[in-house]
Parts: sequence; structure tokens; C-alpha cells
Amino acid sequence: MRLVIISLLLFSCSLNAEQYLIHAGHLIDGVSSKALAKRSIRIHNNQIVSVEKGYSSAKSNEQLIDLKDKTVMPGLMDMHTHLSGVFTKNSYHEGFYMDPPDYAFRSTMYAKDTLMAGFTTVRDLGEFSPGLTTSLRDSINKGWVLGPRVYTAGKSIATTGGHADPTNGMNHELTGDPGPKEGVINGPEDAYKAIRQHYKDGTDVIKLTVTGGVLSLAKSGDNPQFTDAELSAIMSAARDYNFVVAVHAHGAEGMKRAIRAGVDSVEHGTYMDDEAMALMIKHDTWYVPTITAGKWVAEKSAIEGYYPDVVRPKAAAVGPQIQGTFEKAIQRGVKIAFGTDAGVFPHGLNGREFGYMVDAGMSPIDAIKTATINAAQLLRIDDTLGSIEKNKLADIVAVNGNPLEDIKLMENISFVMKDGVIYKQ
Ligand SMILES: [Zn+2]
Repeated sequence: MRLVIISLLLFSCSLNAEQYLIHAGHLIDGVSSKALAKRSIRIHNNQIVSVEKGYSSAKSNEQLIDLKDKTVMPGLMDMHTHLSGVFTKNSYHEGFYMDPPDYAFRSTMYAKDTLMAGFTTVRDLGEFSPGLTTSLRDSINKGWVLGPRVYTAGKSIATTGGHADPTNGMNHELTGDPGPKEGVINGPEDAYKAIRQHYKDGTDVIKLTVTGGVLSLAKSGDNPQFTDAELSAIMSAARDYNFVVAVHAHGAEGMKRAIRAGVDSVEHGTYMDDEAMALMIKHDTWYVPTITAGKWVAEKSAIEGYYPDVVRPKAAAVGPQIQGTFEKAIQRGVKIAFGTDAGVFPHGLNGREFGYMVDAGMSPIDAIKTATINAAQLLRIDDTLGSIEKNKLADIVAVNGNPLEDIKLMENISFVMKDGVIYKQ
């Protein structure tokens, strides 16, 4: 076996990419509307140098990778993850006995599980330990930790008592009153401060919680939580620093304010009504559905004690709605980018989303596009990622068989290359 396979046991690994020729039985390139039979992909260092019809012969400096029994596609992208944790009842109090390094080491497992599931790029939309995801991103890029490319929002920005106010339901003497430095804002001045703090902290994107949410220790799962003035200030500051802005939203009113303000994506979108869908189309806003998280919390809400009492009825009400909203949104022609909310459920199960999308009426090829070229467009990185084409970076995954015939195959990725390096074969 001449291929360089990175041992998962190595703490620090060589990231030297080589020269490869892949023989792909079928290729879903992220751009074409169907799978292409028998293609050869040449990869030099971390770049795709050509995609050729048929099975070309390897040059003397190229290692041949035989994926003739597989379907090859661009590295998958999940636009909604939380790599710093996995939500259970313990999540509400573990911050009192876990130190930041504990969170950090634990997150390395989640990053590895995500990469091995074929997700070579993720957007992290809210961390449970300050500074964790920017450090995780940098550690992965340096080769200290195995994981996907990470585009992180750092801490979600909330308003006082809002979905990402980390002190909700806590002892106020112990937890204090967080402000814009901690990602909790009230008013336009705070909004500017919070965005600039994120820039200083080195985050890549911005996440706002513009309505109530399911898992926070607060009563409403859908009330609006930002004013128009706050959203306008956020968007003005975000444009100055070239941030993509994602908003968590279940309720229609908070969602509409955010869409009108010009945000890039709406996450969950549970109670998105006709007017909100029309606004999404008018403002060219992406919808990131996270059906997997909805199904997960609905299922777990039936288990006594799995969630705190204030969370349980919200999980039971909101969770089952998302897939139906997604079905209406695709019929209306709202743009979809793939996102699961991994971290609400165990990392590495991200591929389940594909099946839920297809169950709701999306074609398998379109579902795969949401996790490749569409996601790359949302992150504004489609010049280098999101498809298998000449000059793009070599993020390539494969599954046994044909996922266009059986979309569940997307839950079992058998080959993973990121940046020209093979991590799974
Ligand atoms: Zn989330």
C-alpha cells in the first residue's frame, strides 16, 4: 500500500499532500445536474489539476487511487455545527466543573468524528467555551488536531435573556450580567461593540439568536429578541468587517426583521410563513434547515428527564415542524444550504440530513448540492471549494455505490481527502 494514510493515533501528523490520480466510478462534481460515469481526477499537492473523461493512466509521479466502485463528490460542508459540545441535560451545569482546556480536548473528538463522516468544511455557529472554536480551527489548520476546515462564529450574539445569553436560568450572583464583550447586547452601540469584539477575537462569521430557542433555559422558543435598530447596527458593522451573518430563528416575526435587515442565512426557520418565504426570495437569503436537530429534540423530549422541564415542551413543539417547513420552502424556491445543528445530537451523524431532505421531496442530487456548491456560495468560498473542478482545492469524499439511488449511503462515507491529504480509505 503506497498511499499515505494518516494514522488516527498520531497526535501530530504530517500534512504533506502528494500527487494522486483518482479513478471515480461515478462523479457528482457539485455543478452538473447528474452523476458522471468513469472520470479521472488528477490532484497535485492540494489542488485539482484536471478532471478527465474515462480512466486515464497515472503518470510516474502519481499514486493511483481506485474508486471505481464508488461515487466521488466534493468534500461535504455542514453550515450549522457546534463542535464545542454535545447537548445533554449535563450541558447546563458542566461549565461549573469543566475548565476551558477540558472543553478544548473534548472538542477534538467531535472534530475528528465530523471529518470522518465526510464533512471537510463546517461552519460553527456558537461555542460553549470562549475562544475554543477559533483555537480549534487554528490547531486543525496547523495539523495538531484532525478535523474539518472550520469557519467559526465564536460566541453567538444574543440580547439579555435571549437564546444565547449563557446566564439564563442560572444563579445571578455566580454568573453576573454579561455584555457585548461576552456576546450579549442591548442597543445599537452594544451591537457595534460585539461585532468589533468578534473581529478582534478572530472569528470568521457572525451568528445571532434573533428569536427564542428550544434548548435555552427560558420560556419562549419563538419570540422576537432583536429590535430593527439592533439588527441594522449589526449588519452595518458586519459589512465593515466582511462577515457572513447567520441567524437562529424559529418565530416568523424575528425572522422577518432579520431578513429585511439583510442577513445571509436563516437557521431552523421553523415557523417561516408565506410572507417570510417571499422575503427570503426577495433578499436572496439562504435557508439552513437543520431537520436532523428538530427530529432529535422531538424524540428526546419524550424521555422523562432528558431535558429540563422548561425545555421539554419547546422541544416537543418546535422539533417536528422543521421538515414540513423545509418541504414548503423548496416548493416556493427558497435557496437551501445544508446544515444540521450537530452538537444538539452527536457529531458524525450529520449525513442523516440528506435522507430527511429527500423524504421531504428534494432530489438526491439537489440535496448533495446543498452540502457542496450551495454551502460554498453561502460562505463566499465557492472560488476554491464546493465542486470538483480544475484549480479547486482537493476536498474529495466517496461512498460505496450510488447515493442518487439510495441517499442513506451518505451516512457511510468511505473515503475522505481534505486539502489533498487522505484521512480515510
Ligand atoms: Zn445551533
